[in-house]
Amino acid sequence: MSAPQRYVVALGSNIAHPRHGPPPRVLHAALAALETCWLPVIAAAPIVTSAPLGPSRRRYANTVALIETPLAPLALLDRLQAIEAAFGRVRRGQRWQARTLDLDIVLWEGGLLHDRRLTIPHPQYHLRAFVLGPAARIVPDWRDPENGLCVKHLHARLTRRAPIPKALRPHAHAPGP
Ligand code: ATP
Ligand code: MG
Ligand code: MG
Repeated sequence: MSAPQRYVVALGSNIAHPRHGPPPRVLHAALAALETCWLPVIAAAPIVTSAPLGPSRRRYANTVALIETPLAPLALLDRLQAIEAAFGRVRRGQRWQARTLDLDIVLWEGGLLHDRRLTIPHPQYHLRAFVLGPAARIVPDWRDPENGLCVKHLHARLTRRAPIPKALRPHAHAPGP
């Protein structure tokens, strides 16, 4: 068996589950399901709720978990998709659809992977506060292998307010002394 490897996994939900309940409770159940499916959770960030992205109009619950497993990335993806299916997720070939559970691989300590089925780092994670916020709580110093930036710096860069151009600042046109 190969050595354990750490992965950062993003969890999202925006449909209540008939047994587990509303999205935040779905994520609690999903964290337990990872453990049951031999994917030990080393750390999990507090669950956040946020406005929807894309065509779905529902609210999301999101969190990020650090897991450790000897599985290679594609085998891990298979297992995560099996857990999504067990939570009642039906794939209709459209991204961002309403779903009981979404499990995405965000980062891997092994670095980069570009495969037809799987891209690591996740191509969008650096643009998503609902991923970077929780990730900054549990893996602030993990570096993105593509740009070398730490998760905490990616999060700060995304959430920092853009500087106001000098010409638009108050008193920019005020007469001098
Ligand atoms: P997004 O990936 O933008 O968050 P989504 O999670 O809604 O959208 P899905 O329908 O869950 O998209 O996944 C579509 C496909 O993305 C999957 O079948 C999977 O093969 C592929 N995929 C590519 N990279 C990843 C990754 N890092 N983690 C999970 N799935 C990935
Ligand atoms: Mg996703
Ligand atoms: Mg997904």
